[in-house]
Amino acid sequence: MKKKVAIYWARRDLRLTDNPALRAAVEYAKKEAIPFLPIYILEDYMVTGDATYQFGLPSRYFLAKALSLFSKKFPHFVVFQGKAARTIISLADEIDITLFVNEDVYKDFYTQLKRIRTGGIEVKLFSDALTISKDTRTGTGNIYSVFTPFKNAVWSDFCSKKVLPKVSMEEVTFFSGSFGALQKKKIEHTEHAIRKTFAQTRTFLAGGVQYDIDTLLQHKNTYDNWYADEEGAVKQFDIFLKHTISEYKNKRDFLDLEATSHMSLGLAWGLVSARMLRKKIEHHFDSNVSKDSFGARMAGPVQYISELIWREFYTYLFYHYPELMNQEFQQKFRGAITWVDEKTAHERFKKWIQGQTGYPIVDAAMMELAATGYMHNRARMIVASVLTKNLGVDWRWGQEYFRAMLIDLYEASNNGGWQWAASVGADPKPIRIFNPYLQASNYDKNNLYQKKYLSEEYLAMPPDVVVDHKLARAAALARYGLQ
Ligand code: FAD
Repeated sequence: MKKKVAIYWARRDLRLTDNPALRAAVEYAKKEAIPFLPIYILEDYMVTGDATYQFGLPSRYFLAKALSLFSKKFPHFVVFQGKAARTIISLADEIDITLFVNEDVYKDFYTQLKRIRTGGIEVKLFSDALTISKDTRTGTGNIYSVFTPFKNAVWSDFCSKKVLPKVSMEEVTFFSGSFGALQKKKIEHTEHAIRKTFAQTRTFLAGGVQYDIDTLLQHKNTYDNWYADEEGAVKQFDIFLKHTISEYKNKRDFLDLEATSHMSLGLAWGLVSARMLRKKIEHHFDSNVSKDSFGARMAGPVQYISELIWREFYTYLFYHYPELMNQEFQQKFRGAITWVDEKTAHERFKKWIQGQTGYPIVDAAMMELAATGYMHNRARMIVASVLTKNLGVDWRWGQEYFRAMLIDLYEASNNGGWQWAASVGADPKPIRIFNPYLQASNYDKNNLYQKKYLSEEYLAMPPDVVVDHKLARAAALARYGLQ
């Protein structure tokens, strides 16, 4: 008879606190007096660096570090390489599995899950990626498509979710038997060994062309300043709470101020949950944060929670409409925008990537991304607006480049951000065309951000501007059928 084992399948939830699937798996193993096994599957698409299924070098770099740190929290942890469903089904040839996993919102997750269940494996699924209920509907039973009513509707749901305590590994018996044929798919879970399995190439596809980032950019990124585990993320957030959150509402948009939390990376990989952050805010202010909280003291926390709810909004939309990855939310724009011709688009796109558009604020932001794998939110909005409106390049190209380059890549927010900036997404407003000069004078008043990221050569002799902003504005209005 096969041995019964409770498996926790770690994915984008690399933490011990507030981890529903991990907690349930450990409790189940103890209650049933069966061994427990935490696993991670390095899926083929993550390893190969294949541009058709983008898993960027920053994500590969980060995962090697984060996974090795996470695995140290357990006396026994197994990393396999292969296809997720196939690996789990093969495991079931050796052991009798009950699989515990936190629900993801992406279509591929449900495809894998269906295969696993069809393989006869019992799966216990837990809500995690979305804090609010994914079945949230408007009064007329529709999916929300505008942010503010969504925020108003979900605020109390978002703020009332419990935070589960940290899971203790005491008194847990770990499974340490053999995995039969799968044994050779096991990977040592040191940072070095995991990194060695990853391709080091940096490529992506845009407009049917494969771009090689290493030939476009001289920068070799350094990601070593980032935290890579739960403790590091919590420490970073505690510093933000102590020094910055009170001023967050007034300062978050300024490019030269370090006034944001840098939690996007921790949230993308589940080193922290949004619920943990909310609870920490309440604890710090010794108060619940209602959307109607008023007074200067609470303005920062209210704004911060509102930003976390933006993330929920995009995640919710992506769950309900996975086709958004390639398709405009607003039907009227599907196939209706005439982007500039292909040759011009590729020429302009390259300049945008290389920080050579001649709009200094855009070029600085693109160099921030190239150097750090991160970009300030305001800068993301500016560069996305300029690529789509001023340069007339399809937003999907920008989305692809960000997928390849961001260390805090979170598909739902990246897609939501691109669609928002291209004015084709949810939360529609009349077309937004950012003026890069005004943005620079408003949000980088003393040019400190630009000086930080632009080279001396650039500052001494900036390149000619690719398209004059006034002309670009008129062309964009025409392209969107508004003139
Ligand atoms: P803070 O200002 O400290 O905000 C706290 C948290 O709130 C963030 O960590 C994030 O989880 C959430 N948040 C803040 N602003 C937004 C927003 N506009 N939309 C959704 N959530 C938000 N965010 C990602 O996490 N991953 C991405 O891949 C990503 N791509 C983007 C692409 C574009 C074109 C745009 C315009 C925005 C994108 N964002 C993305 C949203 C936002 O830029 C980042 O979340 C933010 O800059 C991260 O820095 P922070 O953690 O210091 O933010």
